[in-house]
Amino acid sequence: MNVPVKITEDSLVARAARVAEIAARHADAVDFEGRFPQEAVNAMKAERLLGIQIPRHLGGEAASTTDIAELCSMLGQACAASAMVFAMHQIKLSSLVEHGADSEWHSAFMRRIVAEQLLIASATTEGGIGGNLRNSICAIEIDGDICRLQKDATVISYGSHADAILITSRSHPQAASSDQVLTAFLKDQYTLEKTHVWNTLGMRGTCSDGFLFRGEAPAKQILPKPFAEIAAQSMLASSHLLWSGVWYGIAVDAVSRAQAFVRAAARKSPDATPPGALRLAEVSNLLQMVKSNVVAGLKAYEEAKADGDKLSSMGFAVAMNNVKIASSETILEIVNHAMLICGIMGYKNGTPFSLGRHLRDAHSAQLMISNDRILGNTSSMLLVHKQDTSLLG
Ligand SMILES: Cc1cc2nc3c(=O)[nH]c(=O)nc-3n(C[C@H](O)[C@H](O)[C@H](O)COP(=O)(O)OP(=O)(O)OC[C@H]3O[C@@H](n4cnc5c(N)ncnc54)[C@H](O)[C@@H]3O)c2cc1C
Repeated sequence: MNVPVKITEDSLVARAARVAEIAARHADAVDFEGRFPQEAVNAMKAERLLGIQIPRHLGGEAASTTDIAELCSMLGQACAASAMVFAMHQIKLSSLVEHGADSEWHSAFMRRIVAEQLLIASATTEGGIGGNLRNSICAIEIDGDICRLQKDATVISYGSHADAILITSRSHPQAASSDQVLTAFLKDQYTLEKTHVWNTLGMRGTCSDGFLFRGEAPAKQILPKPFAEIAAQSMLASSHLLWSGVWYGIAVDAVSRAQAFVRAAARKSPDATPPGALRLAEVSNLLQMVKSNVVAGLKAYEEAKADGDKLSSMGFAVAMNNVKIASSETILEIVNHAMLICGIMGYKNGTPFSLGRHLRDAHSAQLMISNDRILGNTSSMLLVHKQDTSLLG
């Protein structure tokens, strides 16, 4: 049974709607200037959205991944870069919430994130390894109570604006490349030397510059679980689902613009069906497929969270990989379809039907951990994993 969601002034949805309004107002300038969406992030802080995932006993609101995906989609409809900043921050929190609860330092850190609305960034990508998240070249060095790390982090979204960075490395200088840990470094514990400037086709406001990271912090800031476990049990699923929430939001807004275009044409000529009407029906079908895919993925993750075996199973990993592949590919088709409906009014910048920003932002989806890499990973699992043939989840 569908229970209607009650929207009060301080419900998550109402707070995110207020942020989305601000994000939408600045979206074109953020994109054009390739600047950090400061107004939207200030609004996220003012609405206290940065700590919502953290458990209640640490001051948060224990928001679920499904709740957060909905907020990512709402923000994605307004400004994809702001939405992606929010999604990436929440993906980092999922690692802390799921794997840092037993550590005194990480619990205190979570309290601070809520109290001070700290913004957390991610540094997994490394020069020489690219998007191969489950391997590192750099290694953390532990010297008594202190740990030190230097990493050629070629992409850190909003690195210059973050209050802390969660960063992967090998667990010690002799460790194998896949023997990794994840460490939280606070802003005053690292320096960032800029090595690449983020001047890109889309997602320009994420300001994902490259940096040489140098950090020194108490060793207790290393998360107590191996990164292999963190990646498999929370990070990959929450990345694919929350990114998909953002991408769905981009597609929803593109289809809304196409629908407004067709309606305006229908109003102008009430006796004739506008030429784009059939295309609109087609694109609404594609949009529903993306939604169904993301909703099914969220349901599978919420169920698997309660079952460690399921969470670590190949079936679950294949399903999450497929959510990412399908949503990242289909949104491109959707935005392109919306562009065909709106014609030159969609192609031009500065019209109510402009879709250039949507199309450019949507192109990042296939690269954010390359789809080829993900397909390669799924194909190895399918050599041994029995295919899912049931509709029952
Ligand atoms: C908007 C945005 C924000 C980002 N933010 C961050 C961030 O905050 N922190 C961070 O760490 N990273 C971030 N990234 C980086 C990221 O998610 C990717 O991991 C990275 O962009 C991959 O870089 P790459 O394409 O050079 O590398 P690769 O993944 O190495 O891919 C390079 C090429 O090799 C091919 N290839 C590589 N491996 C395989 C394989 N096994 N099978 C088949 N083909 C393969 C790919 O198809 C691709 O053509 C961000 C990326 C984007 C787009």
